[in-house]
Amino acid sequence: MKLAYLGLGSNLGDREEALREALRKLEAPDLRLITVSSLYETEPVGYARQGWFLNLCAEVETTLFPKQLLQRTQRVEREMGRRRTITNGPRVIDVDILLYGNAIIETKELQVPHPRYRERRFVLAPLAELKPSLRDPETGRSMTEMLANLQDQTVRIVGKLS
Ligand code: AMP
Repeated sequence: MKLAYLGLGSNLGDREEALREALRKLEAPDLRLITVSSLYETEPVGYARQGWFLNLCAEVETTLFPKQLLQRTQRVEREMGRRRTITNGPRVIDVDILLYGNAIIETKELQVPHPRYRERRFVLAPLAELKPSLRDPETGRSMTEMLANLQDQTVRIVGKLS
């Protein structure tokens, strides 16, 4: 049994419903949701000509191995009609594996910790809310420390998933 942290985001259609549906689809006897962060409305990063995202992070307990977890998250993205078009462009749902216990994974299809999460306020803010003392297995820095060092990007809490 491992604790893992997932980052979810949506900026197309009914964003809140997309997040709710994705959490529902991720959950199974081999993946249990422990805690879900508040909802964060966040400015798009990279490709700016698109709507703001709704993001959240979830702490999950799972017996899936990392690659199986990636298969699960990608199946949910596929089932929800995710189309890969513009890099960092609009999407109904995006599910990233941010952390998987203290594992450091460097394969072609999966890198954990997620290679870009340290620079992303839309990930660090909900992660720091879930577990401020959680530390990055590569750098040893806590989520709160990493968040304090970020300058840009606007995020605001807009509530909780009902
Ligand atoms: P994205 O378009 O941002 O969802 O990226 C999807 C691609 O990133 C897929 O091809 C995955 O194999 C790859 N990937 C690598 N590491 C991760 C990770 N930690 N979580 C999710 N996708 C990952």
